[in-house]
Amino acid sequence: MDVQLSERQLEVQGIAREFAGSVLAPRAQRLDVEGGFPRESLAEAAKRGLTGIAVPKALGGLEAGTVAYSLAVTEMAKACAGTTVALCVNNMVAEVVDAFGTPAQRERWVPGLCNFEHTVGAFALSEPGAGSDPGGMRTRAVKTDKGWLINGSKLWITSGTDAGLFIVWAKTSDAPGARGISTFLVPGDAPGVQAGKPEHKMGLHGSTTTALDFTDVEVGDDALLGDTDRGFRAAMMALDGGRIGIASQALGVGLAALELASAHVAEQPALARSQAVQWRLADMATELDAGRLLALQAAWRKESKLQFSREASMAKLFCSERAVAACNAALEVMGELGNDAAARAEQLFRDVRVTMIYEGTSEVQRIVISREIARRFGEQA
Ligand SMILES: Cc1cc2nc3c(=O)[nH]c(=O)nc-3n(C[C@H](O)[C@H](O)[C@H](O)COP(=O)(O)OP(=O)(O)OC[C@H]3O[C@@H](n4cnc5c(N)ncnc54)[C@H](O)[C@@H]3O)c2cc1C
Repeated sequence: MDVQLSERQLEVQGIAREFAGSVLAPRAQRLDVEGGFPRESLAEAAKRGLTGIAVPKALGGLEAGTVAYSLAVTEMAKACAGTTVALCVNNMVAEVVDAFGTPAQRERWVPGLCNFEHTVGAFALSEPGAGSDPGGMRTRAVKTDKGWLINGSKLWITSGTDAGLFIVWAKTSDAPGARGISTFLVPGDAPGVQAGKPEHKMGLHGSTTTALDFTDVEVGDDALLGDTDRGFRAAMMALDGGRIGIASQALGVGLAALELASAHVAEQPALARSQAVQWRLADMATELDAGRLLALQAAWRKESKLQFSREASMAKLFCSERAVAACNAALEVMGELGNDAAARAEQLFRDVRVTMIYEGTSEVQRIVISREIARRFGEQA
């Protein structure tokens, strides 16, 4: 891996830093209190190309690669983790359609996901009782003369309130578990698609998360993404890439906590002299830097077209767990101020916790990593 960032990567990081400072940061606290879909900020992100960072230029993206994407996500998450997760999902949806779509599907959907014409994309995989194990899903798509008829329910879907495109996974055969699942592109305004009320979440109030009901939703044959019954592969490939985004997001929140705690300590001579406090900041900085290298390694492997499943899970596992620890440490170092909503540390703590859950919990990451270790040892034996 080349540890020297290219001019282009630094440029995209700079674009994201400017966007975070001028658009996200001024709105973050109000969004945390009032909640809601961050429409204006997302439109501003689209003007800067942050809605399709690794997407080809021919389809409206920046074509800057996954390392640039990881750097940009970290910058944005420092300012507003909620808006950033909506952007991560949009980037992921655009990349999935680019990777698995026909030329017509790519042309129809990807440019509009990059320029905000379709608002944003959403990723509808999880269901009641089918989160860590999507093979247990019950949503069904049945073949008709005209295309497909989709019925079922999804749960906890980021941007479910406003998405212009849903990637929906549904069972298309009775094969058990993960076999017999297909992937569909469902317009957000398709008759029969109904979003529930936004969930009342612990954090990430700057992104909406809803249940989705699909009642006799009719889509054409051109809505099928990839092959029938082979959709699980698309879901797993999307999640591998998505984990790099969530690792980078967690890192951004952890770095924001480190900045807050360091600034607080600098203003308090007694704390600044305490070796216990100094070591705490040293541990936070060391762990977040280690996380940054893991995230960049996974991103570099992805854009170099090498296998990156194990590295993406390692980055997601480590960055999310160490970022949660960093936000907790910031709360403790800051004492009573850590609990003061005006000081932001408590918001960072509420925002970061979910990074250990979505795109696969920490336990699921450990399963993926250990499976990959076994596979590589098996190949050598
Ligand atoms: C804010 C938010 C946004 C989300 N956005 C999306 C989205 O956009 N699209 C989407 O499809 N989903 C989304 N999700 C859903 C998310 O991906 C799931 O919550 C997650 O995959 C965990 O599934 P679950 O909640 O059903 O927990 P469960 O799968 O029920 O897990 C419960 C606990 O059991 C553990 N566990 C489960 N299986 C095993 C095992 N085999 N071995 C060891 N431990 C195990 C888990 O690690 C966890 O600790 C979102 C969730 C949240 C909270």
